[in-house]
Amino acid sequence: MRTDVILLRFGEFMLKGRNRIRFENQIVQQIKRVLKPLTKAALQKESYGRMYVELNGESYSEAAKLLGKVFGLLSFSPAIKTVPEMAALEEAALLAMTRLQKRPDTFKVSVRRVNKQFPHETFELQRMLGGHVLKHFDGLKVDVHNPEVDLRVEVRHQESFVYSESVPGPGGFPLGSNGRAMLMLSGGIDSPVAGWFAMKRGLRVEAVHFHSYPYTSERAKQKVIDLTRVLADYAGSIHLHLVPFTDIQTRLKESCRENLIITLMRRAMYRITEQLADKREALAIVTGESLGQVASQTLANMNVIGRVATLPVIRPLVTMDKLEIIPIAEKINTFPISILPYEDCCTLFVPKSPSTNPSLKVVERQEQWMEEWLPEAIRAAVAGTETMLVKPDDKSEEDRLF
Ligand code: ATP
Ligand code: MG
Repeated sequence: MRTDVILLRFGEFMLKGRNRIRFENQIVQQIKRVLKPLTKAALQKESYGRMYVELNGESYSEAAKLLGKVFGLLSFSPAIKTVPEMAALEEAALLAMTRLQKRPDTFKVSVRRVNKQFPHETFELQRMLGGHVLKHFDGLKVDVHNPEVDLRVEVRHQESFVYSESVPGPGGFPLGSNGRAMLMLSGGIDSPVAGWFAMKRGLRVEAVHFHSYPYTSERAKQKVIDLTRVLADYAGSIHLHLVPFTDIQTRLKESCRENLIITLMRRAMYRITEQLADKREALAIVTGESLGQVASQTLANMNVIGRVATLPVIRPLVTMDKLEIIPIAEKINTFPISILPYEDCCTLFVPKSPSTNPSLKVVERQEQWMEEWLPEAIRAAVAGTETMLVKPDDKSEEDRLF
């Protein structure tokens, strides 16, 4: 009759009329996915929109860790589910109080009485349950304004929930509910964080990485696969597109003004990413750019580089400081991989003094001189792109798809 559950709460998207069912299906799918390792746990959905996880003996802390990876989940509460009867509520209230990590000095009971047929009115029920708890805990006092513990009791028609704690979830939108985007993923600190923010906003991302093999090593490639794997923990799986960029880079180096090579390389990257986006029916590009962070990210450079994109470019980190980005990278577990020392394709070709204020006209003129080979080289890079499906744990499941 009495079971341990986790009550789930969702963001404002769950209130949005026509899309509600779609959002709900998407989040249900994600919750079921993360809870798969806990084979006995079961997601329950009530007709009035309440959702909870029945633990059936599985560990709460394990479930809480997994739920922390479900975007759209606003908060959750470990709760006791019981029948809406007085004796059962008293028993659950006591149990909830004994389970608290630290014994409080003050508490209050807050009742939500959804079942209007329940024989006791809200205030009366609060008083009765409060009194029952007080009888069993010496020295405990009621404080209705600022209690250490707020014991919440929800009385519904078929069942009741008793809980006191609310743990914040990641928030945002259910994965995929806002469409698909291509994430330009380097091996650095920023772009994985940008990808995480994009996913949190409901975008299903596919990663695009440019490598300059053999100038960049297998280990550099593995680093990006590992970063994708960490992000895949939030999505179930992520497509990773590995683009051969050596040819374009070496030819750009031969043909353009040295201080413009980064700008031209980035424009080529955007063009390739757009072509891949078309193939994969993605409607946006996500990057880890942060205004002013390095020479290639001055406003002037962002302008000249961003001009080639026709899709919306989403830059979740654009106004963030490195010191704000790093704690997030640590929280989402990408940081230890990002700081591994393997070379990036761009650092190999960085000039002594890259332009911070390129002229769009000059850059476009340079590209006109490359008209004979650049568009074709871009098509070849797209054609030579290797795609793999990266999953969270099992390396053996990485299939070469195309
Ligand atoms: P990051 O920490 O993400 O590498 P960064 O501070 O090093 O960023 P840049 O190297 O200027 O910045 O790159 C800016 C953005 O361009 C990156 O955040 C990423 O989105 C994209 N980018 C850079 N290099 C690559 C690459 N080799 N493959 C894919 N995308 C890249
Ligand atoms: Mg970088």
